[in-house]
Amino acid sequence: MIRSELLTKYYGSVRAVGGVSFSVGAGEVAALLGPNGAGKSTVMRLLTGYVSPTAGRALVGDVDVAERPVTARRQIGYLPEQVSLYPEFTVRRYLGFVGEVKGLARRRRRAAIGRVIEQCGLGEVADRHNGTLSKGYRQRVGLAQALLGDPAVLVLDEPTVGLDPVQAVEMRELIRTLAGCTVLLSTHNLTEASALCSRVIILSHGSLVAADTAAELGRRLEGAGRLVVRIDGPPDAVAQGLSALPGVLGIERGEPDGQAGVRFVVLASNPEPVQRRLAAMAVAAGWTLLEVQVKPPTLEDLFVRLVGSEP
Ligand code: ATP
Repeated sequence: MIRSELLTKYYGSVRAVGGVSFSVGAGEVAALLGPNGAGKSTVMRLLTGYVSPTAGRALVGDVDVAERPVTARRQIGYLPEQVSLYPEFTVRRYLGFVGEVKGLARRRRRAAIGRVIEQCGLGEVADRHNGTLSKGYRQRVGLAQALLGDPAVLVLDEPTVGLDPVQAVEMRELIRTLAGCTVLLSTHNLTEASALCSRVIILSHGSLVAADTAAELGRRLEGAGRLVVRIDGPPDAVAQGLSALPGVLGIERGEPDGQAGVRFVVLASNPEPVQRRLAAMAVAAGWTLLEVQVKPPTLEDLFVRLVGSEP
């Protein structure tokens, strides 16, 4: 349903994305992941026709977005990173305005507005001015305008960014109700990606580093695992020692938490031998190994392994 074919975008001499190819099938919910500046918003702007590619093409269904942006946009609901809501408009009036811009005829528009108000839980605030709404409600209005006209494809740029935990959970629940739509959403939150998405696309420095189903990406890490360890020893030396152990793919050092020792999360290609080497190293160095737990790998582990940093 969505296809990115070798999409490349330069802003002046800055390469925002280069040679990015992936697809999202009809009805799939896909996550676009990557650290800041990886090119996620640019890919979304290319897919929605808000910027044109320097090379490559974006397809929605069989429509080339750059060639027929109006036709393509009719199939797409877009929640941009910063949605401009016209603060002096009421929610209902704003949605009416967006419906008009989307070319919905008056009667159809009224019914469609009623539907999205209901769907996005905006009934209570429908006659309030956008400028007076909480961030959570503003995001819901952003989603409601994207849903107007029943688009087959939704492109949501960081739908939960800036929301408090309760608002974020509500937004995720709302996204979960969009069954049937093809959804591409960007996020920095890997728990969110795991919970909502069956397909994962990872960008780093404008290039694609992975695009696959979540299940297939999980298989890539098969055998790998994370060790959660607590060691009483000089933290810098312990961190160095852990990083240098054969089979260790990465480590993460915990903040001081008032308990004895320092907590580390160690991502290992095969946790069992690493656990033995780690115990031997601690004994040899005179450190005390206070705790070791083996956990299955997470999407975060895969991300760190592929991108080399936190999302
Ligand atoms: P974030 O997670 O911080 O929103 P992102 O993954 O969405 O980042 P983009 O916003 O697509 O990344 O930016 C990719 C690169 O392109 C960055 O280096 C950014 O500075 C650059 N860039 C984006 N928009 C423009 C623009 N209009 N003009 C010039 N450079 C731009």
